[in-house]
Parts: sequence; C-alpha cells; structure tokens
Amino acid sequence: MVVLCGPEGALLIDTGIHPSAPSVAKAVEAFAGKPVTAVVNTHWHFDHTGGNEFFARRGARVIAHDSVRVRMSRPQFHEVFDYIFPAAPAAALPTLTFPESLTLYFGDEVVHLHHLQPAHTDGDLLVHFTKANVLHAGDTFFNGFYPLIDYSTLGWIGGMVAAEDRALALCDAHTRIIPGHGALGTVDDLKAARTMLATVQGRIEKLLDAGKSVAEVVAAAPTADLDAKWGHGPFTAAQFTGNAAASILRHRQEVG
Ligand SMILES: [Zn+2]
Repeated sequence: MVVLCGPEGALLIDTGIHPSAPSVAKAVEAFAGKPVTAVVNTHWHFDHTGGNEFFARRGARVIAHDSVRVRMSRPQFHEVFDYIFPAAPAAALPTLTFPESLTLYFGDEVVHLHHLQPAHTDGDLLVHFTKANVLHAGDTFFNGFYPLIDYSTLGWIGGMVAAEDRALALCDAHTRIIPGHGALGTVDDLKAARTMLATVQGRIEKLLDAGKSVAEVVAAAPTADLDAKWGHGPFTAAQFTGNAAASILRHRQEVG
C-alpha cells in the first residue's frame, strides 16, 4: 500500500484484506492527519480491494480500471486456488473507472495511472507518483520470489514481462518501486524479476511447442537453476511452473 497526503485528504493505493480496513484507516489517519478521500485499486484481487467498502462508506472515491468493476460485480472462479470469489458488495465497487489511463492531481503531486495489457490479471494498473519518483507496480511485480499469475482473469507470464518493461520505462536509478508482494524494491530488483520471468517464459514455451503437457512441463523442472534464488516465496517452483505454463496455454487460446 501507498499513502499520499494531500491538503484535503489522503490517497490510498490498494485497500488490503477486508478485516484490516479499520486498522489501516487508523494508521493512515495517524500518518496523514486526514481521512482517506480517494482509493486506487491496482487490480480486483481480494487482498487489494478488501477494504474498499470500509473506505467508500466513509466518503472515499474508489478508482480502478474498467475491468476491476466488472470482475468485482460478479463471482470469479480462480483456477489456481480452485475457489469461487463471490461478487463484492455494491458499496465496494469502484465508482470511477477508465479504459487506458488517468491523471490525478493530488496536492502538489501528479499521479499517472497506466492500464497494462493482461499481465497478473486483465485489470492491472501501474501507479506512478511522478514528482516523488515512486511507482506502485501492483501484482505485476513480486519482489524476490515467484509470482502468482491469475490466468482465470487473463493474466499470463508474457504479459508480466511486458508489464515490467513498461514499469522499467518509467523508472530511473532512484525510483522506489512498491511491489504487490515483497519488500520495497529498486530498479535492479525489478530488472532481476523481469529477467527471471522472461527466462522462464522462453523455456516453458519451448517445452509446450515440443508438445509437452502442463504436467510434463512441471516434471521437466525448467526453473531448477533459479529455484534457490526465487523459490522461497509462497509458491513453490512446481506451482509457479504449472501456473506459468497454464497461463501461456490460456493466452494462446485467447489470442488464437
Ligand atoms: Zn493479485
């Protein structure tokens, strides 16, 4: 999460899980001295939108990509978790949505919201605080470990690489990069993640092109030399490999 203090209130990027909202609000008000008046969601997932209703009921405007409102309005089957996320309550839905990009003028700051081609989901945003030189990459960037790719809502590993290329194009050597998961990152951390993802994508595409199934791709352990560095997060190498391979197959189906 990121908080920006403005003269009239605070801007909050992502709202966390539902039960944390009151403690997040307390922390923001202690820090900003003002309530949250605007929220941006980097994508639809429950751990980034769970506090929306809480903040919206206290007067915050919720801003997101068009797809986030659509996804949150209906139950979403998430194949990786084999779980159906129920529709969000109406009060939790974004009330200002956009298809491509939006600029927020918040106090002295100019905040660019960039929609990406499907990467982690089909509604991902990069949130760029242009004056502070801070970038929130949402879940297009997991810092230091294998990411989750939600191919049920059209994310795919090639889109993750493209998203990180777009993020890198907004950065200089001093940009502070907030990942969706993991510690605050640098441009070198983001470059390393991008290189890892592109490497894994290339290896998996080769195996799929040779006719291997997802199970056979996983059995081939195409990330074996990368696992010591990247395999210590919430997803094992096998889970990530299966997830990435399935995302490529789904993407190929979608684009034909
Ligand atoms: Zn996510």
